[in-house]
Amino acid sequence: MKIAERLKDKKKIFSFEFYPPKTENDTIRLYSSIKELEELNPDFVSITNSSTGEVPYRAVALSKAIKEKTGFEIMVHLTCLSHTKKEIREIVSVLKETGIDNVLALRGDILNKKEFKAKSDYVYANELVEDLKSMGNFTIGVAAYPEKHPEAVTLEADILNLKKKIDAGADFAITQLFFDNKSYFDFMDKCARMGVNIPIIPGIMPITNYKQLSNFTQMMGVMIPEDLARNIEKYSNDKESLMKFSIDYATVQALQLLGNGAKGIHFYTLNRSKATKQIFKNIMAGTIVKQ
Ligand code: FAD
Repeated sequence: MKIAERLKDKKKIFSFEFYPPKTENDTIRLYSSIKELEELNPDFVSITNSSTGEVPYRAVALSKAIKEKTGFEIMVHLTCLSHTKKEIREIVSVLKETGIDNVLALRGDILNKKEFKAKSDYVYANELVEDLKSMGNFTIGVAAYPEKHPEAVTLEADILNLKKKIDAGADFAITQLFFDNKSYFDFMDKCARMGVNIPIIPGIMPITNYKQLSNFTQMMGVMIPEDLARNIEKYSNDKESLMKFSIDYATVQALQLLGNGAKGIHFYTLNRSKATKQIFKNIMAGTIVKQ
């Protein structure tokens, strides 16, 4: 079912995010994770896109392949930085042919500011949203940042920019990962006060790798609560305990979010299945029932 339809009903929405694999081993792991997660019947899966312009079509090709293989509802990420307007038109034709109805419209990550040369037809995500809206009946998602986008001067300024994406036609948002639910609840209060009224689905990332976490959080400007940092440090050389801790932490986080009004949970899976599967099962066994 198209995401816009699912957003209208009262049920919670659960989604999994995957990225296009680079190596043969990555590909094997991705498809094995998809197989593991298939039985959980997610409402949609989303496929990330590179913003480097390197191989921007991989996300579209992978979306098509996963849709054909699994029948999952797909949302493909498209970024301003990696596509010209002409290319977006070509991609939209492919999406229509393939029956992919959902797009996450993003500016894209600037990974290496010195060397990076963006295709500059679109500067900000609101411009891509507006263009996509004129091209068909897509459900359009956008990114939101409970702890502020690193480039934004203030959270309020960032929310005003989120509003530009909504005014351009965004149907819903997915948040950057965060580890302190207070950030999300405060953000939602602020959004409501500033007239932002689309569903904003929290993004959760199970921490299964100590090094990866510190890289991610540094790049994204995400806060790590002290007790979380202490525990991750404690288990940094004990994979199994870290996995257990991470699953418990994310389960508590997700149940609290869902119990306090969040429309659903978007899992940043990092193409792995074990933690996501267990957290999902824990949620279903808790007070939150999907159906
Ligand atoms: P924008 O909304 O354009 O915002 C970028 C910055 O500019 C913000 O500081 C904002 O406040 C400001 N701004 C926005 N609009 C305006 C305006 N009109 N005028 C002035 N200032 C403005 N990156 C990838 O490369 N590929 C992916 O697949 C990907 N998937 C993601 C999925 C999710 C759920 C999230 C939360 C992020 C994802 N990202 C991805 C990261 C994202 O591309 C980066 O965070 C990027 O730096 C900002 O993207 P955006 O769409 O939020 O940009």
